[in-house]
Amino acid sequence: MKAIYLAQFGTIDEELMSALEVCAWQIFGYDVKRMPNLPDPSYALDTKTNQYSSVLLLKNLISQVPKDAVRVLGVTNHDLFIPMLSFVFGHAQLNGPAAVISLARLHQSFYQLQENKQLLIHRMMKEAVHELGHTFGLIHCSDSRCAMSLSNAIQQVDKKTEELCANCSILLEDSTKQKSRENGMEMQR
Ligand SMILES: [Zn+2]
Ligand SMILES: [Zn+2]
Repeated sequence: MKAIYLAQFGTIDEELMSALEVCAWQIFGYDVKRMPNLPDPSYALDTKTNQYSSVLLLKNLISQVPKDAVRVLGVTNHDLFIPMLSFVFGHAQLNGPAAVISLARLHQSFYQLQENKQLLIHRMMKEAVHELGHTFGLIHCSDSRCAMSLSNAIQQVDKKTEELCANCSILLEDSTKQKSRENGMEMQR
């Protein structure tokens, strides 16, 4: 039985990781397991901006995908960037094995506001579903309430939900069905 694996770069608040486990299981329907904690990704630090390269974090994850993993989702407290963009909330390869999300800009304190843990948890779940959705082949959705809608700013994150719209749910179902057929074929060979 394939599982979605969660990986922490450094140490992430346990309450957040547990919430993520439940959310990933509810939306994607796979068992959710944990990878051993990964070291702090100092190799990905850009000292000029104090941000971390999401591409390097993804590469690192992809190099250690467990055998029974359908997908791996990495979580970091560090702020992430990809070339040409000043920051990203997360990054995934379309139909790829791995995705990564950053908690840095999901904290109210990042915007000089009072911390709010429940809000942080919901923002994290939305970004997790969004990036994992990409790994299952989902693209950006025009429904601003759908988890697959694009967020360039925290206001857009707050507008969407951690749920997929009806269209995206059907696309996800097709994609995961196809995958299990492929897995079935692999086992028969
Ligand atoms: Zn996206
Ligand atoms: Zn959608």
